[in-house]
Amino acid sequence: SARPKIVILGAGYAGLTTARRLIGTLSSEQAEIVLVNKHNYHYEATWLHEVAAGTRSPNSARVMISDVISPDKATLIYDTVVEIRKDENRVILENDELTYDYLVIALGWKSNDFGIKGMAENAFAIEDIDSSRLISEHLEYQFAKYRSDPAADEENLNILVGGAGFTGIEFVGELAERVPELCKEYDIDRSKARIINVEASPSILPMFDEELVEYARKSLEDRGVEIRTGAAISECTPEGFIVGDEKELIKAGTIVWTGGVKGSPVLEKSGFELTKGKVNVNGDLRLAGEENIFVIGDCSWVWNKEADRPYPPTAQLAMQEADTVAANLQALLTGRALKEFVFDDKGTVASLGNSDGIGNVFTGVKLKGKQAAAMKKIVDNRSLYLMGGPKLVLKKGKLRPF
Ligand code: FAD
Ligand code: NAD
Repeated sequence: SARPKIVILGAGYAGLTTARRLIGTLSSEQAEIVLVNKHNYHYEATWLHEVAAGTRSPNSARVMISDVISPDKATLIYDTVVEIRKDENRVILENDELTYDYLVIALGWKSNDFGIKGMAENAFAIEDIDSSRLISEHLEYQFAKYRSDPAADEENLNILVGGAGFTGIEFVGELAERVPELCKEYDIDRSKARIINVEASPSILPMFDEELVEYARKSLEDRGVEIRTGAAISECTPEGFIVGDEKELIKAGTIVWTGGVKGSPVLEKSGFELTKGKVNVNGDLRLAGEENIFVIGDCSWVWNKEADRPYPPTAQLAMQEADTVAANLQALLTGRALKEFVFDDKGTVASLGNSDGIGNVFTGVKLKGKQAAAMKKIVDNRSLYLMGGPKLVLKKGKLRPF
């Protein structure tokens, strides 16, 4: 047909929201919408630390794409994107090929080990449903194995977490709840299973002020998390991390790297110019020099002109970018001017387990404890609402109190 074809790559926060907005605003005569995703489900990437710790089931963190995008309104393709050939307007999939008139790249992030020796081989990473489920299964296996062998090495019960940014801290917050449960289940003394979070910077969570950082640190330490700041990891061996100038080896049976993320490796494979693993986009969210390619979510850097640095990539940012892209695609189809993306920052909340947290919301309101944990659940439910309406909130929402 003569209808222009819009291809969206990735059904995460950015891609799924773009597809929903386009379906809501374009008539089927205006364009054909194609959504490509690796799996037939979308997952809540912001809940993966819970899946990895085993405090949430993998199924409760995912949504069938066909439940939120009607297959009558968009073509759904479940396949893996291998490469984008922008000079040919073509996308290479594992099992097929696609051409497009307009492209939205929303393939998200992967763990970044910055080339640290042994990290890729010896540490787990929280990246998607499968990699997160593997961590919780491995953790439980370590407890079962220790129980079955009286001569077993106690250090196998240790859990090492590399990096105390958002992901590392939210993960150890969940572990502080999960580990006592596992100890009870496997009749193991709580003091035998150590949770050790290693961070290179002098402080955890540098984006929060001192009061909130201190609160978080104390809350975690009171629940048995050991936090080692100012300790850079230089290598990961099968036994554990090598840390600091002294090259101390910290041993553990479960080793998880949460030291940072980069954009999808498809960007590099496609020959795009990268800045720290992501591409720079213009104010209208198009790839520099390209008329018909938008890049959003964790694959791109969007400049915050006021602060003169890029916005930190988050789910909140990804969903707002999707709104702008949907509007800009409509503008392109109808020959109107494109608009500049403006971020409306609603604040940031970090969970410290199910019933504790810290946050900065609206303009300058500080939250901690149960208030922050409640706000975090509101944020999580709101993102479900934006992607799937009230039906999705009822089905998957965090509706139980603590
Ligand atoms: P993603 O959500 O990663 O979606 C990418 C999609 O593309 C996925 O469906 C994936 O399966 C698919 N895909 C990937 N590669 C391919 C391929 N080659 N072919 C086909 N499909 C592919 N942000 C917040 O704002 N608030 C939070 O509280 C928060 N908490 C977080 C907690 C954790 C543990 C983590 C890890 C991150 C958190 N973030 C949070 C950050 C947030 O998750 C990311 O910024 C967000 O996921 C980016 O959205 P996206 O749509 O760009 O990518
Ligand atoms: P990050 O880059 O924010 O944190 C990584 C941490 O690892 C940093 O503190 C860094 O100093 C440390 N690190 C790096 N190399 C190290 C080394 N060699 N040794 C020891 N420590 C080292 O990455 P993240 O926590 O994975 O977060 C990724 C993105 O997702 C961020 O943009 C974040 O804002 C977002 N996110 C947000 C939330 C939330 O809003 N609640 C939760 C999770 C993630």
